[in-house]
Amino acid sequence: MLTVENLTKTYRSGDKALQRVSFTLPKGQVVGLIGPSGAGKSTLIRCVNRLVEPTSGRVLLNDLDLTTLGKPALRRARRRIGMIFQEYALVERLTVMENVLSGRLGYVSFWRSWMRRFPGSDIATAFRLLDRVGLEGRADSRADALSGGQRQRVGIARALAQEPELLLVDEPTASLDPKTSRKIMRLLTEVCAEHELPAIINIHDVVLAQQFTQRIIGLRAGEIVFDGPPSDLDSAA
Ligand code: ADP
Ligand code: ADP
Repeated sequence: MLTVENLTKTYRSGDKALQRVSFTLPKGQVVGLIGPSGAGKSTLIRCVNRLVEPTSGRVLLNDLDLTTLGKPALRRARRRIGMIFQEYALVERLTVMENVLSGRLGYVSFWRSWMRRFPGSDIATAFRLLDRVGLEGRADSRADALSGGQRQRVGIARALAQEPELLLVDEPTASLDPKTSRKIMRLLTEVCAEHELPAIINIHDVVLAQQFTQRIIGLRAGEIVFDGPPSDLDSAA
C-alpha cells in the first residue's frame, strides 16, 4: 500500500508544482494520473521515489516513511519500487535477458555477476517473466534490435524482476502507436493484478487511462481536481 500525505513541492524557481496532494493506493490498484502539461504529474512520481526532494509531506510505502530515509536506506527502499519509462531506459548493448537480470540483481551485483556467471535461479525467474510479457525466444536479442512495443515489454519484465511493492510508470505509451499502446496498457494492468501491485501510471492519453485503469487522479496546477472511477470522469469534465 502507498500513502501520500500532504505532498508539496515548490521548486527553487518558485514553481508550486504540488500543493498538499494526498491519496492512498491499496494493493493491486492501478491509478491513471492525468492532467495538462505542467500540472505536476512527473513531479509527483519523482517525489514518491525522491528523485525530486519533496518540500513537505510524507510518502509511506507499506508503513516505511520514504521521506525521512538517509541515502543508503533510500537506495535499499528504491529496490522495492519498479520504474517504467517512456523511453524504456534499457541498456542498448545488452541482451534482453541481461536487461531483465539488471533489474533483478541491481547495478553492482549485476556487473559483478556479469564478470563471472549469473545465478541459475535468477535466470529462471527472468525466463518466466519474459514468457509472461510475450518475449519468449528473445532472451538473447540485443535490446537495440527490438521494436518499441517489445522494448516496453522488456521494461515491464525488468521492473517485475525486482519483485517490487509499487510500480511507478511514466508515460509508458508516449512513443508507441495506438494499437501497441493498448497492448502495453493491457499487459501492465494484468501483471499488476497478478502480483497485487499498486501502480501509478502517468498517462497523457485520457481515453487509455479510462479504458485500462480502475481509478483516475486528475491534477491541475499541482492540486488534485479529480479522484474517482473512470466512469465518473465524463460527468466531472
Ligand atoms: P507534468 O508532468 O504534469 O507536465 P511537471 O511535474 O513536469 O508537470 O511540472 C509541474 C510544474 O513544475 C511546472 O510548472 C514546471 O514548469 C515546474 N517544474 C518541473 N520541473 C522543474 C524543475 N526541475 N525546476 C523548476 N521547475 C520545474
Ligand atoms: P511490436 O508491435 O512492437 O512488434 P507487439 O506488442 O505487437 O510488439 O508484440 C510483441 C510480442 O508480444 C509478440 O511476440 C506478440 O506475439 C506478443 N504479444 C502480443 N500481445 C500480447 C499480450 N496481450 N500478452 C502477451 N504477449 C503478447
